[in-house]
Amino acid sequence: MKLVLATGNKGKVREITAMYGNFDVIPYNELIEPFEIIEDKPDFKGNALIKARAVYKALDDKDAIVFADDSGISVEALNGEPGVLSARYGGPEATDKDNLNKLMKSVKEKDLESSPAFYTAAIAIVCKEGEYTTHGWMYGNVIVEPRGEAGFGYDPCFIPLGYEKTLGELDDTIKSKLSHRSQALSNARPVLDVIKMMREK
Ligand code: IMP
Repeated sequence: MKLVLATGNKGKVREITAMYGNFDVIPYNELIEPFEIIEDKPDFKGNALIKARAVYKALDDKDAIVFADDSGISVEALNGEPGVLSARYGGPEATDKDNLNKLMKSVKEKDLESSPAFYTAAIAIVCKEGEYTTHGWMYGNVIVEPRGEAGFGYDPCFIPLGYEKTLGELDDTIKSKLSHRSQALSNARPVLDVIKMMREK
């Protein structure tokens, strides 16, 4: 079954493709010209739905199944920031590296070397059968010096609970077992199974 991903984020595309090996996962920018989507909801679910609806409409293919991930990190020492603003924490044009550096600097400015934090992922599915959303979370601590190159985004400063290494240092297979995204994706599987069954009838 073909799934159109409402993202061009290479880290997300890589992880979702790896976790959904039995689906044909296509980033939307391989089908249509990428366009700006304003994510102005206060929660991950709302923003995931905005992205999935916008791409479903732009594709103009009523049989498409569009899949969006909205995700981010919330840090206790920063009163839950950056949360839904994770992609823009370092400013409107910020790169992943700018965002990571700003987060570590902000924690350091609180005279801390680490802080409890968690990642959230919301998945939205939009197709002719309806709209569906699922969530997943990963808890741990952020540190103020980056370690490792694996993963993407804030991974070099995030140590999952029960581990001593950052997601930047841990093997991708460990992240894929623990992550907010993998939990949200496994919660979405039954929805896709039902859609598949309905279409094969
Ligand atoms: P979105 O594309 O609006 O959902 O933005 C997600 C933001 O959170 C980006 O800055 C990502 O780098 C960050 N983020 C989301 N999931 C992860 C992850 O699994 N690891 C590291 N950073 C992540």
